[in-house]
Amino acid sequence: MATCGSLCCDGDFDKDGVSTTRTIQSCLPLPLPVEILEDIVPKAKDFAILHGAGMRYRTNYDPDSLQLAPFFLLPSAFPRREFERVVKLQSIVNILMHRIAHDYQFLKDALEKTIKVDDFTRRLWDIYTTVREEGVSQLISLGMFRCDYFYSVPSQIAQQVEINTIASSFGALAARISVMHRYVLGELRKPELLGHLPENDALAGLCGGMIAAWDAYGCPKAVILFVVEDVTYNICDQRFHEYEIRRQRPDIHVIRRNLTQISQRGCLTSDKRLIIDGDEIAVVYFRAGYEPGQYHSEAEWEARLTVERSKAIKSPSIHYHLAGTKKVQQEIARPGVLNKFLSDSEAKLVSQLFTGLYTLDMSPEGDQAVQMAMENPERFVLKPQREGGGNNVYGQEIRTVLEKIKDSQEREAYILMDRIRPPIQQNYLIRAHEPVKLVEVVSELGIFGTILGTAKDIQFSKFAGHMLRTKLSSVNEGGVAAGLGALDSVFLFD
Ligand code: ADP
Ligand code: MG
Repeated sequence: MATCGSLCCDGDFDKDGVSTTRTIQSCLPLPLPVEILEDIVPKAKDFAILHGAGMRYRTNYDPDSLQLAPFFLLPSAFPRREFERVVKLQSIVNILMHRIAHDYQFLKDALEKTIKVDDFTRRLWDIYTTVREEGVSQLISLGMFRCDYFYSVPSQIAQQVEINTIASSFGALAARISVMHRYVLGELRKPELLGHLPENDALAGLCGGMIAAWDAYGCPKAVILFVVEDVTYNICDQRFHEYEIRRQRPDIHVIRRNLTQISQRGCLTSDKRLIIDGDEIAVVYFRAGYEPGQYHSEAEWEARLTVERSKAIKSPSIHYHLAGTKKVQQEIARPGVLNKFLSDSEAKLVSQLFTGLYTLDMSPEGDQAVQMAMENPERFVLKPQREGGGNNVYGQEIRTVLEKIKDSQEREAYILMDRIRPPIQQNYLIRAHEPVKLVEVVSELGIFGTILGTAKDIQFSKFAGHMLRTKLSSVNEGGVAAGLGALDSVFLFD
């Protein structure tokens, strides 16, 4: 059984004194005997696919079939103390993000330089200022956040990787995988371990947020709009959100449209109601719109502006989206900032979630960060203002990139962050059409939170479930869709 502390962690330190290879025990002694593995893998695959843990094929896309989503056979160990700590703090983190998003001056100061060099963030900013100048027609925002954490070996606490304020995904599939792991441990005749698996109501929690927003809009005929990609590979995760809304509230209808369709078929009434194909929209849930490639032309930007101008309650509204940029997250971590938005005791607790974040502005402070990163690139991650994985820069490549941009304002499009060193454990990776593999992995915990309210009046701020994504310890990023990471669930240990 996994335990934490010196008994089970074997510490290895590389030359810079950065702990890199501490390992923790998996929930069961591994490898499993071959005959047990041969029995359990098909059972787990069947359970996963029969419960909808699937995705559409990326190559040879086929609307008539699904492929098993990649997942790990066993739940991965995560320290209970840190899991409980971040769960408890989520409602405060929601409020922090809500207040930041409503502080125009803070966003302006934080993003002023970024928007000069990052076109995508500037376009979002332009929408924000346009709507602000016209007068915001919907004061209520719905936050459906996901805060991602690694447990850090050197500091022995969970540290925040980022806060997602748009398209926080995998709430549905994460909850399915939690249930699958219960089944797997049962089939392995280890029912005594079930107490280590926390319940996961992410899907119900997130959909509960949308339903509360729909109620707040107050129009029984209005529908919820999911803004989706042109092709949705993560279809199960999205569809389960629709089905859960219908389960909780049979009277609420969901429609799905991409930004191009909204540009062609959406309009505003004179009193700013958003109408799409004859339906009035009460709530807009963005599962797309977070990356430049999703805006093919001016038409999609117009669509985003139309939505933003409308009375519909948006998740996220444009200021929430901006509050979720990497640059704002770096500015939030500056000493003293949290105290502007939270009580002293709350600020202290939240500050403990952050690792080092550094500006790369053209300033002495930025120069110092550049120098630090050039000297020790392995200790940092260089991040542009992008979401969705695969955009960050690691290791020696940080040097190469900084070498090119260090003397130009281009560097202001990035932030620098301490690299977090999570513990390594073993688990079995299961991917469609591939043999099961015992691999060394690290796990990233996502904590969902929902919040609804206006600048002054918050109706609720809640923890809304969790998810675990696990990736090979040898890769920098492990996007599930990209095939380097896989779905997992949490095995808590003391
Ligand atoms: P995105 O918005 O693209 O998801 P993230 O900041 O979450 O950007 O980074 C993507 C991935 O990169 C994370 O899921 C994590 O695996 C890795 N990563 C990001 N920041 C760090 C960090 N400070 N230390 C270690 N790994 C990181
Ligand atoms: Mg991320």
